[in-house]
Amino acid sequence: MRLGRIASPDGVAFVSIEGDGDAATAREIAEHPFGTPTFTGRSWPLADTRLLAPILASKVICIGKNYMAHVQEMAGDEATRSSTSGAVEAPENPVIFIKPNTSIIGPQAPILRPKSSNRVDFEGELAIVIGQPCRDVKAAKAKDVILGYTIGNDVTARDQQKADGQWTRGKGYDSFCPLGPWIETDLDPADLEIRTELGGEVKQRSRTSLMLHDVGEIVEWISAVMTLLPGDVILTGTPEGIGPMAAGDTVSVTIEGIGTLTNPVADRG
Ligand code: MG
Repeated sequence: MRLGRIASPDGVAFVSIEGDGDAATAREIAEHPFGTPTFTGRSWPLADTRLLAPILASKVICIGKNYMAHVQEMAGDEATRSSTSGAVEAPENPVIFIKPNTSIIGPQAPILRPKSSNRVDFEGELAIVIGQPCRDVKAAKAKDVILGYTIGNDVTARDQQKADGQWTRGKGYDSFCPLGPWIETDLDPADLEIRTELGGEVKQRSRTSLMLHDVGEIVEWISAVMTLLPGDVILTGTPEGIGPMAAGDTVSVTIEGIGTLTNPVADRG
């Protein structure tokens, strides 16, 4: 099922999106999309609605340094170098951090560059959406607690990430977590192409099979720390090719089997 959240002339609703292109229809889901959704009977042509961020998350948990080629491109950061050999090393365990849920925006909403930063980067990432309350989930059981997968952009004020020594400010600005365009519930995340384009130019191209820690390991690691709630989002890390965005740019992240998340970039007033 393809689950979305829309603004229609009749209000905001969770929907099941059926069909493709101009013929796509949004069927309204009663209340919420968890478990077995029930339908209200109302529907709209998708083209007459506006897609919002597909889920309401209590928190967004992110994985840092989950693709080796990205670890290498970040190697100027001393933390990625062995203290003894100086070699670039991947972290043994997942590195996690949180973006506030107020950073979430939907497709086509503008990413706003704060005046306090002079470098705001895109990071295209596969996003896991949790489907039920859970804690201490073993990797082999992760599928049971996952509602589906969407696309995320872990927007980062790179200068502040480096200056602060931890990432809350650099990753936490309003609009720094675009999500969408929808959630695919029937998707094997093991080996999907992930691609980020800036103004139509390909900047990142990789495959989810190159993650250092896969979806199951990530859910096990995070759920051993904190309870995950329905709608919580996990961003699984970005591949190599990160770079800055300027006002007036358009950034698109495409993941095979899901679709494309596109956002314009503007300066925050
Ligand atoms: Mg990231």
